[in-house]
Amino acid sequence: MNQTACKKGHLLILSAPSGAGKTTLGNAVLQRFPDILYSVSCTTRQPRAGEIEGVDYHFISRSDFREGIGAGRWAEWAEVHGHLYGTPAEFLNQGLDAGKDILLIIDVQGARKILDRYPQTLAIFIAPPSKDVLQARLESRGTDSRETIEKRLANAQQEMAAANLYHHIVVNDNLQEAIEKLVSIIKDNRSVEFC
Ligand code: ADP
Ligand code: 5GP
Repeated sequence: MNQTACKKGHLLILSAPSGAGKTTLGNAVLQRFPDILYSVSCTTRQPRAGEIEGVDYHFISRSDFREGIGAGRWAEWAEVHGHLYGTPAEFLNQGLDAGKDILLIIDVQGARKILDRYPQTLAIFIAPPSKDVLQARLESRGTDSRETIEKRLANAQQEMAAANLYHHIVVNDNLQEAIEKLVSIIKDNRSVEFC
């Protein structure tokens, strides 16, 4: 991700079970590296309280999403917790061609596809300190129903099993420590010559 030496930018993926803190950590990364762009995904999920169209997600209908699949609009897409999520390909390709590094916060299925398609991607998995802490965070976030929380916890084990796909695993126990670890991994990676 060294922009002085490489014309093209690179992708950075953060994945984690729901509630492990990838949104919180992703925001911290964007604050610390203001030149990194964020890839706003499209989703068929309903907005949560406080989520903003075009900032958190592009909220679209299932039929528009399906049309996007046919039109090749997604660099990757996946069904997660019963909803469809996709990364707009045009945004990625334009950003990369302009030499920008881009943060994607996507699930493990999407990470697999992006790593195949963009092999120079840096992939980092955020793990919760324990299942109990994960549950407590989902409950304290206060944005999801009991049924949704149960579904997300049930999926967490499967997602944790895919952690070996990633270049690094960061345990998000103490928030400040997790941010520093993440920042240091990204800094190291950006200083490496890729081209
Ligand atoms: P995700 O995006 O992975 O679903 P969030 O970033 O929304 O997770 O975090 C879930 C909840 O846990 C939020 O309420 C957030 O403020 C809180 N949280 C995140 N990281 C920590 C941490 N290290 N310690 C305590 N609470 C945290
Ligand atoms: P949430 O509904 O909690 O915002 O996200 C649910 C899951 O979908 C998370 O694991 C999140 O990272 C993932 N996700 C968000 N956007 C995308 C995307 O564009 N592609 C894929 N594959 N997963 C996504």
